[in-house]
Formats: sequence, structure tokens, C-alpha cells
Amino acid sequence: MKPELRAKYEAVIGIECHVQLATQSKLFCSCDNDSREAEPNTNVCPVCLGHPGALPVLNKRAVELALRLGLALGCNYDQYFESGKQGLHTKFDRKNYFYPDLPKGYQITQFDEPIVTHGAVEFPLDGKVKRVGITRAHLEGDAGKLTHPEGRDYSLVDLNRAETPLLEIVSDPDMRSPQEAKAYAQELYNLARYSGASDANLYYGNMRFDVNVSVRPVGTKEFGTRTETKNLNSFKAIERAAEYEIRRQIVLIEHGDKVKQETRGWNDAKGETYSMRSKEDADEYRYFPEPDLPPVIITHDMVAAAQAELGLLPRDLRAETAAAKLPVNEAEVLVSDPDAALVWHEVVSQAPEQARFALNWLNVERPKLAEVKGLTLPESSVTPAVLAKVGQMTSAGELSSTNSKALLEHFYARDITADPAAVAKSKGLLQESNTDELAKVVEAVIAANPQAAADYQAGNARAFGALVGAAMKATQGKGNPPLITKLLKDRLD
Ligand code: ADP
Ligand code: MG
Ligand code: ZN
Repeated sequence: MKPELRAKYEAVIGIECHVQLATQSKLFCSCDNDSREAEPNTNVCPVCLGHPGALPVLNKRAVELALRLGLALGCNYDQYFESGKQGLHTKFDRKNYFYPDLPKGYQITQFDEPIVTHGAVEFPLDGKVKRVGITRAHLEGDAGKLTHPEGRDYSLVDLNRAETPLLEIVSDPDMRSPQEAKAYAQELYNLARYSGASDANLYYGNMRFDVNVSVRPVGTKEFGTRTETKNLNSFKAIERAAEYEIRRQIVLIEHGDKVKQETRGWNDAKGETYSMRSKEDADEYRYFPEPDLPPVIITHDMVAAAQAELGLLPRDLRAETAAAKLPVNEAEVLVSDPDAALVWHEVVSQAPEQARFALNWLNVERPKLAEVKGLTLPESSVTPAVLAKVGQMTSAGELSSTNSKALLEHFYARDITADPAAVAKSKGLLQESNTDELAKVVEAVIAANPQAAADYQAGNARAFGALVGAAMKATQGKGNPPLITKLLKDRLD
């Protein structure tokens, strides 16, 4: 497609995201929420199999985690306590439809009184802050899983996943490019992980994205007809699918055709979306209130408890890295990894001057060590205290930059409780910073290299490097280079 043609249109994108909440059990029964190890249809009971007469019981933890994520998504619950109000009134509804992965013939979800309303998400993109409104987020039970074996005339259904707890987050149509869509999805991922509301494992489908895309000629106000591409499970796929849809819709419109409102799938290998079903006739789900579950009032105490459990959020980290004057792109690498971000946050609260040192090590060295040693940061012995101390020893000239990495590499193992200074000493990593000792070394080096000393004094800068090198060699690499440089200059200049 010619860039001029692509530039004639503006995309409008809204995203629905299903987040699997990190509860122990399913949403309405005591079956395990995690079926990864289970044989198909073994992690089930009369409730999640939808047997007639079996009664659902709401999982309290799912409500707590949804609230936590709701707060992270910027929902203001205070408005529901104003002028003597009891709190947010939320309830469950039946969404009726027939499908083989839905044994009850309806899904229990929330229709007009969701647990999260009117939030917003903000994240940096291309030097600006992008804001995406959150229309709503509601609790619902997942459906089962269908597989269609290649070349067979039957399909298989596995109900292990039926009624696992989901929070469906619906965004406003606020995104204008595939890049914004991708960055928004990444921010939802950040929030899900920071809040601890979900394991947020994309590989296991803990987060699945449906991307709604329409296009309109630049400058027009009215939205075009949208398509919804379902079940994307990587950030890259969201970006690619959105770009593909934008181009497909532009071509249709340019040929005088109409975009059909429909649900589409994504073929990642081909890099194409494909039509699944038409959505032109509005779905008739005959929603009505779920008679087997009482409404839930979100009280002040429940919100306060969720707030207390929430902890650090990406926006807190961004404020702290900005205050430490760290570049946004490097800060974002840190923010995208909550384990590292938390360690950084603690290092800075103990030793603010180590912000840069800690960021460098966490962003650059730590991923390499994690890969080589097969150990996550929390599993290793690099605590905030260790990282702060190694940073301070480096600033003080006790460790060279190379040896600071070596020392932290030593601590990147399980169960090391020793003091970094003691380990540095026993491993011979400390720099020689004893001025008297080094002055003797410098004296000896000048005596042994009279030609280099004379060349330097005659203005040959390269000769100076040779003298520093000789002094480092004489100290077996342990001399403090800035100190050696100073002593040599004091003596020769
Ligand atoms: P449905 O259940 O039919 O998918 P929802 O209201 O749950 O409807 O979700 C609609 C999603 O589509 C929202 O994320 C919304 O922002 C987005 N959306 C609505 N209209 C448009 C449009 N014209 N172009 C792109 N996205 C849209
Ligand atoms: Mg939808
Ligand atoms: Zn069950």
C-alpha cells in the first residue's frame, strides 16, 4: 500500500482484554483454577459442568483481586460512598447462548452493574503520555476449550477451564495506531503483574486480547464500521493484526465496498485476519439477573483492603525514575519487569545515589545472568541491600566497574548471605586504594620505564597509557585507576 493512501485514513481502536485472576479455585466452585497438569475433563464438578440444580458460590478472592486491578485501572470507588451511599452495587447476569464449550447454555457474567467502571490507563509513548479510558471491567466465568483435530469429523471439548475467573477489561475507542494498541496491551500486562491480580502468563493464555478496529478519513469525526479480531495472545500479534485490518479496510473503502461488522480470527503464520462470523445482527443474549447469586456491595472496607494489598504501581516507578533523572526509554525497560523494578525501588530508598548504577545492572547484566544461570532475580541472592552496597563500593573506588559485575555475578546464586565487602576481599576483587602503597608502585613504574615517562613529559599522551597499564599490571589489576592516574600526574606534570 502506498504511504500516501495509508496516511489518508486514521485508525480507531478499542481493546477488550480477558485477564485470568490468580485465585486458588474457580469462580463458582472449589475446582482448581490451574489445570495445566490435569488430564482433560478431570478438573471439573457438577457446578462447572453445569449440571441442573448445582448452585454456584461466588469466590471471595476473585472479588478482591478484581477490586485490586480495578484500583490499578484508575476506577474511583470513592464516588460510591458519597452522601451516605453504601458502596458500589454490583451483580451477576446470565448471558444466554448455545455453544458446545458452554454446558450450562449461558455464561455467568456482569451486564449493567460491573465491578469496575470509568477508569483510565496512562503510559508514555514517543515522548508523550497516552491516556486510554477504561469503559468498564466485569467478572465472568470462562468457557471450556474446543479442539478440532486435523482431518477428523469431530471436535473435542475440555471443560477443565470452564468457570475459571476472568476480569474482562473493555477500553474506550481511544487508540489511533497499532503502536498505541500494542503499548496499551503492554500497560495492562504491567498492571496485572504489579497488582498481583493475575499471573499474567501470556503463553498460558492468562491474558487474551480482542482488538476492535475501524478506519475513517483523516479529519472526519464519525467512527467507521468496526471489526473485532479475537483471541490475540502476544503484543506483536496485536500490532500486526491491527495494521492488517487497517489496510484491509482501507482497500475495501477505496474500492467502494463496505466494511462488514464481523468477528475475525488471526492467523499468525500467514500474518492475516480471517472472517469467523458476521455481527451485523446484534447478538440477542437475553440477559437477565443471575437468580442463584446475590448482588455484592463493594464496601469501603473492601476497597481499603484492596488498596492496602496493591503495593507499587508502574506510575509510582515512573515518577521515581523521572525524579532520579533517568532516561524514559531505560526507565520503561525497568518498568516492564516488576521483579527488577521492585528491587530498584528498594535500592533507591536505601541509597538514592545508586539509582543509575542499579538501573544499569538490572537492565543490562541481570537478564544475561538470569539466562545463563536459569535463576530469576527473586530466587538469587542479589537483594536490594547487596545491590546498594556493591554500588556504594564502586562509587567509593573500592571496586572497579568490571569487578562490581563479577561480585554481583557471584551473588546471583541461591542462598548467599555473606557480606559483599567480605566476599570482595576473599575473592581478591578489591581495588588497591592505599595511596602510600600505590605511590611506591608508581615510583617503581617510572623508574622501570624512563623512556615512556620522558615521552609523556614531551607531550606524547599515548605514553601515559603505557605507564598506567604498567602500574595496573604491577598491582595485578587491583590498583584503582583514577588514583594511579592522579599519582602519576602529580609526579610527572
Ligand atoms: P462487543 O461485546 O460487541 O464486542 P463491547 O462494548 O464489549 O462490545 O466492546 C466494544 C469494543 O469496541 C470497545 O473496546 C470499544 O472501545 C470498541 N469500539 C467501539 N466502537 C468502535 C469503532 N467504531 N472502532 C473501533 N473500536 C470500537
Ligand atoms: Mg467484544
Ligand atoms: Zn468445578
